[in-house]
Amino acid sequence: MTPTQVDLLIEARYIIPVEPRDVTLEHHAIAIRNGRIEALLPIDEARSRYSAAETVRLPEHILTPGLVNLHCHAAMSLMRGLADDLPLMRWLQEAIWPTEAQHASPAFVRDGSLLAGAEMLRGGITTCNDMYFFPQATAEAFDRLGLRAVLGITVIEFPSQYASDADDYLAKGLATREAWRDDPLIRFALAPHAPYTVSNRSFEHIGTLAEELDLPIHIHIHETAEEIEASLREHGKRPIQRLDDLGLLSPRLIGVHAVHLDNGDIERLARQGCAIAHCPTSNMKLASGAAPIKALLDTGLAVGLGSDGAASNNRLDLWREMHQASLLAKLTSQDASAVPAHEALRMATLHGARALGLDDTIGSLLPGKAADLCAMRIDAPDTLPLYQAASHLIYVLGRHAVSDVWINGQARLRNGELLQISNTELLSIARLWQNKLRQ
Ligand SMILES: [Zn+2]
Repeated sequence: MTPTQVDLLIEARYIIPVEPRDVTLEHHAIAIRNGRIEALLPIDEARSRYSAAETVRLPEHILTPGLVNLHCHAAMSLMRGLADDLPLMRWLQEAIWPTEAQHASPAFVRDGSLLAGAEMLRGGITTCNDMYFFPQATAEAFDRLGLRAVLGITVIEFPSQYASDADDYLAKGLATREAWRDDPLIRFALAPHAPYTVSNRSFEHIGTLAEELDLPIHIHIHETAEEIEASLREHGKRPIQRLDDLGLLSPRLIGVHAVHLDNGDIERLARQGCAIAHCPTSNMKLASGAAPIKALLDTGLAVGLGSDGAASNNRLDLWREMHQASLLAKLTSQDASAVPAHEALRMATLHGARALGLDDTIGSLLPGKAADLCAMRIDAPDTLPLYQAASHLIYVLGRHAVSDVWINGQARLRNGELLQISNTELLSIARLWQNKLRQ
C-alpha cells in the first residue's frame, strides 16, 4: 500500500485528545493535512501509513488541544500591575477608567494586543475571546501573530475615545466585522459590557442582531453582590432575570464570571442553555467571590475558562486558571473529586469551543477538526516521575513547560520561541507604554 501524503506528522509520548473523554494515548501520532487533523493513531502505524513533508518528534512531551481563553481584554496588558489589591468598582473608577480615558487609542490597543497575544501563544492558548475598544486594532495584532480569535463588538452606554454612544459602538464594531469577513481565524461576537452599563433598549437591539447575524453574545454577569443589589433597586429584578425577560438568554450567551448565583439563576441559565466563562483568578484577586462551578457543570452547561485582562489577573495563563478552577471547586464544594484533572482540561478546551459555537472546528483532537495544538515538556527533575499525564498538566506543570504550538497546522511556537514576533520588539513595545502610563 502506498503511503498517504500529509503535511505534518507529530509523534508524541502522550496525547490527551479531550474527545473521547478522560483518555490518555501513549506513543501516538497526529497526521495533519491542509491544517486539519487527518488521523490520530499509534506511531508505528502512522509511519507506515503516512508519508509526511515534515515530522516533529516530541518524545518527552504531552500534546493537547490548543487552549481557548474564553474571556480576555487583551489590550489591558499595558495596565498589568497598574493597580492591585482593590475591589472591582474602586479598581475600575480610580485606576482603569481614568487611564483608558487618557490613553486608549488604536496604537494602545494594537500594542497591548500584540503583547497579550504573544503571551497567550507562548502559554499554549490558540483561541482568544476578547472584549475591548478598537477591535480593528486587536484584529490587526492577532492577525500578525496568527492567533485564532473571537473579537467583541463592544457595547456600552457611556462615551469613550472609541465611540460616543451605544449605537455608535455597534456601528463601528459591525463595520470592523465586515472588514474581516473573509479572514479564516478572526470572528466576532456582540459584547454588551454588563447589565449595569447597558440599557434595555440596547439589549433588545443586540438580541435581534445576534439572531440576524448568528453571533455569540459575550457579557459580564453577576460578578459582584453589589451588581445584583443595584439591579434589584433599579429594575426590581436580578440581572439574569432581566436578561431573560429581554430575550437575551440562549445558547448564544456567554456569561462571564457568574459568581453570585442563586438556584433560580442557575435554573434559568440551564433552561436556556447559556455558556459560562469562569475566571477564578480574577474573581479571587478582586474578592468578587467564588462561582458555583460544580453546580454549573452538573447542569451540563458549557463552562469554559477565562483569564480576564492582565490588569486584574495579572497573567494571561490558562494553565494557571485550570489549576485554580480545580482547587477552588474542591474547596467551595468540600469535595476533592470536584473538577478533576481531565475535567479542568476539558473546560479550557472543548467547553470554551462549545461556548463560542466553534466545537465543530476546535476544542478536541477529533479527525476533521483544525490542528490547533499545544505541547508541554515533561523531562525536568521537578516534573518526574510521571504516572498520569493529565494530573501533571493541571497540578505540576505550568505554562513555562509549553514548548510548541500550532494553529491550523501552522507552527506558532517552536522549542519555546515565537515565530511571528521577536522578544526584542515585544520588550520595546512594553517599555514604550510603561514610560507613557507611568507619567
Ligand atoms: Zn472582564
